[in-house]
Amino acid sequence: MCQHQLPESLWAATARPAPDTVALREDISADVVIVGGGFTGLSAALHLAERGTDVVLLEAAEPGWGASGRNGGQVIPGFKLELAELVSRYGEEKGRRLFAAAGTFPDLVFDLIERHQIECAAARAGWIQGAHCTSAHDHLERRCDSWAALGAPVEMLDRVETAHLLGTEWYTTGFIDRRGGGLNPLGYARGLAHAAIAAGARIHGQSTVQSIEQEGGAWLVRTAGGAARAQNVLLATNGYSYLAGGSGPWPKLAESIIPVHSYQVATRPLSDNIRRTILPEGQVSSDLRRLLVYFRLDPEGRFVMGGRGGLDGSLDRAKFAGVIASIRDLFPQIGDPDLAFFWNGQIAINLDHMPHIHPLAEGALAGLGFNGRGVAAATAMGKALADKILGVADDDLPFPVEPLKAIPFHGLRLPAMHLAVAWKRFRDAQERRSG
Ligand SMILES: Cc1cc2nc3c(=O)[nH]c(=O)nc-3n(C[C@H](O)[C@H](O)[C@H](O)COP(=O)(O)OP(=O)(O)OC[C@H]3O[C@@H](n4cnc5c(N)ncnc54)[C@H](O)[C@@H]3O)c2cc1C
Repeated sequence: MCQHQLPESLWAATARPAPDTVALREDISADVVIVGGGFTGLSAALHLAERGTDVVLLEAAEPGWGASGRNGGQVIPGFKLELAELVSRYGEEKGRRLFAAAGTFPDLVFDLIERHQIECAAARAGWIQGAHCTSAHDHLERRCDSWAALGAPVEMLDRVETAHLLGTEWYTTGFIDRRGGGLNPLGYARGLAHAAIAAGARIHGQSTVQSIEQEGGAWLVRTAGGAARAQNVLLATNGYSYLAGGSGPWPKLAESIIPVHSYQVATRPLSDNIRRTILPEGQVSSDLRRLLVYFRLDPEGRFVMGGRGGLDGSLDRAKFAGVIASIRDLFPQIGDPDLAFFWNGQIAINLDHMPHIHPLAEGALAGLGFNGRGVAAATAMGKALADKILGVADDDLPFPVEPLKAIPFHGLRLPAMHLAVAWKRFRDAQERRSG
């Protein structure tokens, strides 16, 4: 059995308590076995259990231990791809359908919070994206037009409004989408786990799945302490797909994404006079750079910022230097930030920047590839996986259903990432200089 501790994050220090989820220590059976207890797996468990399906979820650590309990807590509408990119990739009808569906993902999150009374400091004041150059501004304007045509509550912000709402003069203009918001992500994950258990799901923590094999017409999912047998298995392991040593229980899955570490810090509560100058209306924000930063306040006025750090995942303080430098650049009023929390987590990047549902074999599905935008999308993915198992047609699902593809030369990802990061840094700086 492997014991994974939660990182010492702001969310671990402030979230509601975790449900009791004991390790699997026997052989059991169910209709569906889910591997992974982040938003994807927990939402799938909840939506299946609510519809009377007998479901078991096996999580290597505890619910929310992966990216779901470590992220920025920004509930963001939409995919990373814009309408024109979705239409060019999937065709007019499907591209427009996927685009519109992704705009509703935050509704699902805030409805679940409301329906299950999840205590996770949820606030729906909107999500702002600042533009660092003219082409970023043009990008935001195109997006704003696409959403406005669907009646979404979005607006472009001029330089003065952007500076006021964000509390920094660093951006030229901005875009606000009022469907977005913020929450304590670990609290939200734990709330989903409580709700799934209340609906009848069995959740086992400290239960790393070591193998998944077909036996006698069913799937047999083994951990060190026992096994779960079911007609259907769902893999919801995203950036942690390799976790069970080597490349995990479904090797090609781990090769379909590149796990990348994102680093975050949080200050001690800011003084009232500084706090009033930053995000005064309570939005959350991330920017459009290739090496982006994301930031927000928590309810106690701690400033939280995340961005790129070390490629090796080390928590050495030097790896947080880039994020800390961004606080100084963007928010000089904070001065030398008084930091209390340092943590990181793994996002799953893929080649087309889209999450997918992958049919792996008869009765086996995976849903992953959130590319760093999964608070709302992974919650929706869990529901979509449940819907697919219960018979909803692929064309009615809000994600593309595609065969799993391994990324070519996956073994060379580290040197390739070093080159990619250097190139992205250069391009971001060049764009910013040219305005
Ligand atoms: C630092 C950071 C900041 C982010 N900020 C944001 C943000 O502000 N907004 C946003 O929309 N998105 C953000 N994201 C992305 C978002 O957190 C993820 O897309 C989302 O949480 C993915 O959920 P998931 O359930 O698919 O995967 P995860 O939450 O990563 O869960 C996967 C789980 O699978 C388990 N697992 C893996 N292998 C096994 C195995 N063999 N057996 C049993 N269990 C296994 C792991 O223990 C893990 O708990 C951020 C991500 C990170 C890392």
